[in-house]
Amino acid sequence: MNDRQPRRRLPIVLRALRQALWAVPLLLSLLFVAGVLAWMQRNAIDEREEQRETMISDALSVEAQMRVALDAEAATLRGLASALHGLPPGNALLEHQAIVSAGLRRLWQSVTWLDANKRILAHVPESTTGNSAASLDDGGLSLHLVAPLGTGTLIVRYAPAVLLKRGVPWWLARKYDVQLVDSADQVIASTTDSAVRSAGDSNTSYRVAFVGPLRSALDGPLTTRALTDAALELSLREPMSSPLRPLVLVLMGGFLLLIGGATALLRRQVQQVSNAEQAWRTEAAWRRAMEDSALVGLRARDAEGRLLYVNRTFCELVGLASTDLVGLAPPMPYWPPDALEEVMLRNRRNLAGHAPRDGYEARWRHSNGTLLDVMVFESPLVDAAGLQIGWMGSILDITERKRLEEGERRQIELGAHHARLTMLGEVASTLAHELNQPLTAIASYNAGIINQLNKQATPDPVVLAALQRLGQQAAQAGRVVQRIREFLTRREPQHEPCDLNAVIEAAASLMQRELKRQGVSLQLQLSASLPAVVADAVLIEQVVINLIRNAADALSAQPGERQIEVRSDTVGRFAKIDVQDNGPGLGGRTVEALCAPFYSTKREGMGMGLAICRSIVEAHHGVLDAGPAAFGKHGGGARFSFGLGLEASA
Ligand code: ADP
Repeated sequence: MNDRQPRRRLPIVLRALRQALWAVPLLLSLLFVAGVLAWMQRNAIDEREEQRETMISDALSVEAQMRVALDAEAATLRGLASALHGLPPGNALLEHQAIVSAGLRRLWQSVTWLDANKRILAHVPESTTGNSAASLDDGGLSLHLVAPLGTGTLIVRYAPAVLLKRGVPWWLARKYDVQLVDSADQVIASTTDSAVRSAGDSNTSYRVAFVGPLRSALDGPLTTRALTDAALELSLREPMSSPLRPLVLVLMGGFLLLIGGATALLRRQVQQVSNAEQAWRTEAAWRRAMEDSALVGLRARDAEGRLLYVNRTFCELVGLASTDLVGLAPPMPYWPPDALEEVMLRNRRNLAGHAPRDGYEARWRHSNGTLLDVMVFESPLVDAAGLQIGWMGSILDITERKRLEEGERRQIELGAHHARLTMLGEVASTLAHELNQPLTAIASYNAGIINQLNKQATPDPVVLAALQRLGQQAAQAGRVVQRIREFLTRREPQHEPCDLNAVIEAAASLMQRELKRQGVSLQLQLSASLPAVVADAVLIEQVVINLIRNAADALSAQPGERQIEVRSDTVGRFAKIDVQDNGPGLGGRTVEALCAPFYSTKREGMGMGLAICRSIVEAHHGVLDAGPAAFGKHGGGARFSFGLGLEASA
């Protein structure tokens, strides 16, 4: 029996996936890092957006403050112009104006009074007096505020840088470079000293149109034009960036390096485990193949006798699958139920470690019911730590060996039996020889008496008939003695086609009188379709007579109904004859015991009847069997059967 389940093979894809499991932590780490970077990026964008919004509002606020300041300056200038109106122009007049001195202190560079023809009527401070544009422009680019004064003009010159530095609050100046640029993108003024225009991008700088009363010089200081396309530009001094960002990047880099290293180690480990597993599988397959090809049954049991392992040979021995066996605790299904007690005792002895070292014999039962003899060798089962965890048993099937031994024993017994039969044959032969003479004498005297009676005028017919029956019986007795003698002196039986039903009927009629006397009723159940068999009719008749007589003897002490039934039937290739009674039965005695020569339970029995019957049946290549009768109202009773082969039929 093959108890092996087909081993499940993982699909290749699944196996490949399992082998690539080591990469999972790396992939997850990469995902994690990517997530953190994406989050940082998002954060930076949000921050920039926020920064830009702040910058826009700052730029608008600077522009508004500047414009308010300039508007105030323009108003102050207009106030000065109206104060000077109608007064004679002159430097002293200007100098003594409180507005002028306050303006010059604050952020004015100079104040110039021009007439309608752009000629200077007054100019303060005097150190900057001059007609040339250079004298007015020595501070670099300049801006002007202009107010009409009569027919002339009053011009205040500003240094745009000072204007910006004063106009931009300090906290914004710290954060931004604020520049005033013209339409040609030229820096007019800057809060920083270097007036170099920095190329800011839209994220770090913002430009807002600056419209105000300022004018710039045109072809000289005395001609001005409105500053129309100017703009205020705020540039972040230091683009704001999260100080944590580089730290996070460094940490992420380090983390990836660590994970990379750990993954490499893990991969090596997985590879080693996979190699070890492969080697283990190969070894397990080899071991399994070796165990399965072994002719010895193997079983491992724990200390309580529970089966832990069985090999294929063991399964085949008991006819059960390993899945049914492993895990079973005593009593085992392969123990013969009729000897359970004894086997349990032996099992307890074995588990206690008292099993014979050179093995012990046991009788097991295959699942199909057949019994088998096994030789069991027990040895301790130890685990990896060297601790005994149970017992390992090696089992050899010795049924065939036992059968041969049994055959040998029977052969010896048969020899002895034959020896006894030979002796018996000699006794019987002598007896027959001795009986032959008186029987012949009886027959002769009988024939003489019949002759004498026949010579009389009126012979008594009843006496004559009785004498004729006497003669027949004497002749029959002679024949029986002769046949038995021939058989026992090992002469071959007289094989000839004979009708078994007729033989049975003849035997029954011979026994009829005796049975009647004993109060036994004899029934014949004969098969009408029974074929003729080749046999020695006289010997078979003796067998039937002997069996009927034994049955009658067994019934003699039986109170109530005494019944014998003789049955003939065809069973397969045999003609089968049963003789059964409703007597006390065989009391468990086997046919072997009953047929033993000289075995008898009767006071005057010789114990040879059944022995001779069996010899006769076996000489006809048949088998004599005995068992409980399937007959009688109350059960019980004995049955003797014998079969004669139909092959030898005529
Ligand atoms: P004997 O008849 O001389 O005893 P047998 O060989 O014919 O010798 O029988 C041997 C024994 O078998 C008998 O003594 C008897 O105990 C037993 N026996 C034979 N036939 C029957 C039967 N029908 N019922 C019970 N016992 C029987």
